[in-house]
Amino acid sequence: MRAGRFAWGTGRVAWGVGLAAVVVSLGVGVGWAVRDTTPPELWLEAPARVAAGEPFEVFVSASKPVTFVLRYGDERIERVAEELRATLVALAGRAVLQVDAVDGTGAGALLAREIDGRRRPEPRLEAPAVLEAGDPLVAWVRLDPSTAAASLAEVRSLTLTLDGEPLPLLARPDGWVALRGVALDAAPGTWALTLRLVDEFGPLEPVDWPIEVRSNPRPVDELNVPAGTLALVTPAAREEEAAVLAAALARVPPEPRWAEPFLLPVEGRDTSGFGDPRRYAPGGNVSYHLGADIAAPTGTPILATNDGIVRVAGFYPIKGGWVVLDHGQRLTSHHFHLAHIDVAVGDVVVRGDVIGQVGSTGLSTGPHLHWEMRVDGVPTDPMAWIGQRYPLVVRP
Ligand SMILES: [Zn+2]
Repeated sequence: MRAGRFAWGTGRVAWGVGLAAVVVSLGVGVGWAVRDTTPPELWLEAPARVAAGEPFEVFVSASKPVTFVLRYGDERIERVAEELRATLVALAGRAVLQVDAVDGTGAGALLAREIDGRRRPEPRLEAPAVLEAGDPLVAWVRLDPSTAAASLAEVRSLTLTLDGEPLPLLARPDGWVALRGVALDAAPGTWALTLRLVDEFGPLEPVDWPIEVRSNPRPVDELNVPAGTLALVTPAAREEEAAVLAAALARVPPEPRWAEPFLLPVEGRDTSGFGDPRRYAPGGNVSYHLGADIAAPTGTPILATNDGIVRVAGFYPIKGGWVVLDHGQRLTSHHFHLAHIDVAVGDVVVRGDVIGQVGSTGLSTGPHLHWEMRVDGVPTDPMAWIGQRYPLVVRP
């Protein structure tokens, strides 16, 4: 007990000193508690969507010095600081970025953010490597099919150029398609097809695709068309038909009207090839045969090669009975020398509908169908279209 009393006495003394000490330490303690014993506050700057496989920046700051531990996938960064700046490589898919911060007293804070790692599209260009004058040029752009659309970066723009000139690119269910004709008098050379894609993260590396273009290799056909028949070709007749053609082509919209493969309009004998250079009379100028001739008896029905709208339907001096179908996407089909026309301008036709009958009207020496397939008015090989939605010409 004595010891206890003594102790108490001492204690009393000690208490007096202790009280002052407590007051002092309280004074220090208030300030210290605000800085050090409340949990640190954290701020995080990180993108919500990132390009998978590519670096991105994160920035974390705390209200006071802390030990940061940043985790993202297998990545772990630990640092004592008030700020942390890090460059991370984006994971594919949704992944959590987590930041722990602990101060000197053991008070901690935690922030977590989900980051959506979007795969960048991998565009593939499908186009011919070699083309001849008169071939249709079809180029497809497809995105990597192994990539689920849900995790793909948003495509902002897609442009295809041919020697620097933009080619209209049309969205179809199975990709984007561009269509051009190689003119029959095209000079040989290399055409540069270039695809540029910009997604939400910026432009991708352009895809370059060179196309070797060969000139028309066919020998000149010497035709001996009777002078009486050739007399049909007058400047006035040419001008009239050219004006009708230009007006028809001007109305063809960029969107296709067809969905099915093209069909042969007449069953018959292929008598004259597309693109053959020819002289109508000895010593005359060489001109190209802009269509395919299919010989068939007069009256044989001619079928619409695909869905379309009738833009020309009438009888003209050189082309004779002439029907032009507008298939959309700058594509038209042309039929000459008809004996009879079964459609009128403005009619909507469905693939396989009868549009007229084979004849030998106009500049013709026997019953046949002269059939053209033109892209932007440029004649392309009609046979390349048979059984195809878009012909992909393969030349060795
Ligand atoms: Zn012909």
